[in-house]
Amino acid sequence: MKGKVYLVGAGPGDPELLTLKAARVLKNADAVLHDDLVGPQILDFAPPHAQRYNVGKRCGKTNITQAEINFLMVRLASLGLRVVRLKGGDPLVFGRAAEEIAALRQAGIEFEVVPGITAALGACASAEIPLTDRRSSHALIFLAGHHAVEKDPTNWQALVSSGATLVIYMPGYQYGKISTKLRAAGLAVETPCAVVSRATTTDEQVFTTDLENLPGAPQLAAPTLLVIGEVVRHAAHNALLKQPISRNSEFLQQNFPVGSVHSILDEGRTA
Ligand code: SAH
Repeated sequence: MKGKVYLVGAGPGDPELLTLKAARVLKNADAVLHDDLVGPQILDFAPPHAQRYNVGKRCGKTNITQAEINFLMVRLASLGLRVVRLKGGDPLVFGRAAEEIAALRQAGIEFEVVPGITAALGACASAEIPLTDRRSSHALIFLAGHHAVEKDPTNWQALVSSGATLVIYMPGYQYGKISTKLRAAGLAVETPCAVVSRATTTDEQVFTTDLENLPGAPQLAAPTLLVIGEVVRHAAHNALLKQPISRNSEFLQQNFPVGSVHSILDEGRTA
């Protein structure tokens, strides 16, 4: 049997957000090398006999290096195994996939990338934030927040003048530093911000605020994502509370009369 490595996105947390392809590849896996962010319900898609390794950098038992992960991946595949390298979200978004792909290419190991729903998309679906609402934002920028603290290569001025919605991965709890950098780059203090914690899981929390008050945002459980931009004004939740929706019957009767449905449907029916 010829070994192969699948670089698979596990999505943001909810097992139902796994793609059909990811589920199939997992079902056929001989070995799974997964990150910390991947939950047990998703790992359960792999057959019981599949070897499982937590190669996460945070909670993994050993402090495994990227070189060791590459080594394991290449070695197991060269033995003829179907290896799934399972990463949270999408494997190509802040996932060090480039280094793993380079190692696989160099060793001549067959591989395939199976995309996943990245955290930004999962978080904004949950928080009901229309990432590119055409009235206020025509662009989207994903950036890594830890740079706000370490040697900062980010051109904050360029980010702000682009007018894009900003989605900050790995913000840590550096809300004060991020707010200061964005304000210094000219972003209005009223700009709405959302912190989404453990998006799409049963522990999800959403906190909305604005750029001025962002430094006082609560330290919600990791992983968290920070969304900044006018589009956040449309977010469904406020301050950790999910508002229940109740049907507005009078409004429905007045504005959505049952009779007109038929004329719209008759013209557009396809089957
Ligand atoms: N490849 C992943 C990102 C890995 S970097 C993806 O495409 O989503 C890890 C960062 O992703 C975390 O620090 C956090 O900012 C974000 N993240 C991942 N899962 C998340 C979740 N369920 N809720 C909120 N943020 C999440």
